[in-house]
Amino acid sequence: MDKKRKLNTSNNYDNQKFRVNENIQEDYKDVDLEKYKRAANEEIYYLSEKVKFLREHIKEINKLIAKKCIDKNGKHEWKSEREEGLYGERYTFCKHCKVDAYDNRYLHY
Ligand SMILES: [Zn+2]
Repeated sequence: MDKKRKLNTSNNYDNQKFRVNENIQEDYKDVDLEKYKRAANEEIYYLSEKVKFLREHIKEINKLIAKKCIDKNGKHEWKSEREEGLYGERYTFCKHCKVDAYDNRYLHY
């Protein structure tokens, strides 16, 4: 699948077709269950695409947070800390924007 393909995420979520039937336990005899199940599966597909999109989108946002930090402060200001625990790893990040110094792993979640 084309990675650049834009998922229309802005308003789509509110327009989702699938609605959970709260009374399915009583209504099931009158419901086309195959169709209902198909719609639920389509919803799962849509939501997982949405999650994938948002994960990528957060990476883009983090890059922009780091960019904005440079715009504002001129440079990142590195700070090192050790993770808690006996064998905690040392990591270095910008104290303003939290960008990681070494591997472009962004710490601002
Ligand atoms: Zn920074």
